[in-house]
Amino acid sequence: MNYLVTALYIAAFALFILGLSGLTGPKTAVRGNLIAAAGMGLAVVATLIKVRDTATVNWVLIVVGLVLGVVLGVPPAKKTKMTAMPQLVALFNGVGGGTVALIAWAEFIETDGFGHFTPDQSPTVALVVGSLFAAIIGSVSFWGSLVAYLKLQESIPKNVEKALVRSAKVFQTSNVVLLLGAIATAAYIGLHAGTGNPLWLIVVVLVLAGIMGLFVVFPIGGADMPVVISLLNALTGLSAAAAGLALNNTAMIVAGMIVGASGSILTNLMAVAMNRSIPAIVFGSFGAGGDTAAVAGGEQGTAKSTSAADAAIQMAYANQVIVVPGYGLAVAQAQHAVKDMAAILESKGVEVKYAIHPVAGRMPGHMNVLLAEADVAYDAMKEMDDVNGEFSRTDVTLVIGANDVTNPAARNDPSSPIHGMPILNVDESKSVIVLKRSMSSGYAGIENPLFFLNHTSMLFGDAKKSVGEVIEELKAL
Ligand code: NDP
Repeated sequence: MNYLVTALYIAAFALFILGLSGLTGPKTAVRGNLIAAAGMGLAVVATLIKVRDTATVNWVLIVVGLVLGVVLGVPPAKKTKMTAMPQLVALFNGVGGGTVALIAWAEFIETDGFGHFTPDQSPTVALVVGSLFAAIIGSVSFWGSLVAYLKLQESIPKNVEKALVRSAKVFQTSNVVLLLGAIATAAYIGLHAGTGNPLWLIVVVLVLAGIMGLFVVFPIGGADMPVVISLLNALTGLSAAAAGLALNNTAMIVAGMIVGASGSILTNLMAVAMNRSIPAIVFGSFGAGGDTAAVAGGEQGTAKSTSAADAAIQMAYANQVIVVPGYGLAVAQAQHAVKDMAAILESKGVEVKYAIHPVAGRMPGHMNVLLAEADVAYDAMKEMDDVNGEFSRTDVTLVIGANDVTNPAARNDPSSPIHGMPILNVDESKSVIVLKRSMSSGYAGIENPLFFLNHTSMLFGDAKKSVGEVIEELKAL
């Protein structure tokens, strides 16, 4: 049977890696996801076979856990709208971290505070170090992800969130104290492995790390959230690998390392794309100045509004039009309408390109996925670095539900909370038309000077409705 378990685990690892390679492009992503899920299914079966003769196995609890997992996991995954996917990912990620922290706690109780070990268990050092690492990182990840979920869900009242962001400095100091406290308690526990520890001591580690998780994510505002979510995801992977070490479970080690490594690579890529260092995000809090900027933004003057007819005329006589999609495109589900509009423009000889900012929308690759869903050709989707040089020779840039990723203050205004974040240089194009419903701000909560430039006009309304009206006008030309 041991051979069967090993063979199933190896097959599961192969499926994880195959699945991951599928996730590198929107065309193969769904298949990749299914392959990785099949791998996880195999790993679960192998683990059940492995534990079947263990004295402590409790089949009732296992079945209840499986049923609960399916009942709580499947309906939201099926029903959640694309725009709410990042919150769901943050929540699922947090649940992973929480599970790992609970495993560490259970191991501590089972060994009477690391007082005695059985031959069935991992070597003592792996069990103790793995459990303590898993307890700290798993707890940080659980509570941090919960705050990320609440923030993305907009469940924290705006004034409370602003007050939290303003208190960033206080949080930063406490975080260092909390981290040192959790590490010192863990070290004390480790040093007493073999003789045993009081059972409440691990709760101290979990609580200190949990409060740190809350405090790290609370003050993060501005546009840093995508990097933080990715970082929490990487941390969950690492804590799962540590728990795998403690439980002597190869599947958890491999799966955890894959999540940890891919999450770390993604975090680094996103931090580079945002021109931010990871410590600056975790300890610096980008959004801390959000308030000031919002107030300063009120002095920008008045924005000009335009009509669908005018937008249609400008675009129909342009040589090149660049479409800049943002979160509002996803909310309005305007991707199919945009594709139809582009087809009409192309039939009139206009070249249409799409400029994709790495953090547009609410999750990495959000805009690519939306546009791919409407069958927009991959060649037409241009990454920020490739397209930024093109705006100055573009006749019309159509900004659809994008805001922060086009904000020139990130480039020009050193006092802006998003200063230094690379943006799409749409302000350099000859004419800019912005489709949004009102003058309200984007995710970072700051005003956008782009809207007040002489060559910018606003087409107010829901993006899908506005694009539909532009299509009608284009057809009538
Ligand atoms: P923003 O959040 O900056 O702006 C979106 C704009 O869309 C809003 O100003 C809103 O204005 C408009 N909008 C909303 N609904 C509609 C609608 N139905 N029709 C037309 N317009 C609409 O989006 P961006 O994509 O420019 O920037 C993404 C932001 O989100 C960045 O700050 C990024 O850091 C952050 N973020 C990104 C994540 C990622 O991984 N990509 C994850 C978490 C956060 P109005 O209400 O007036 O219509």
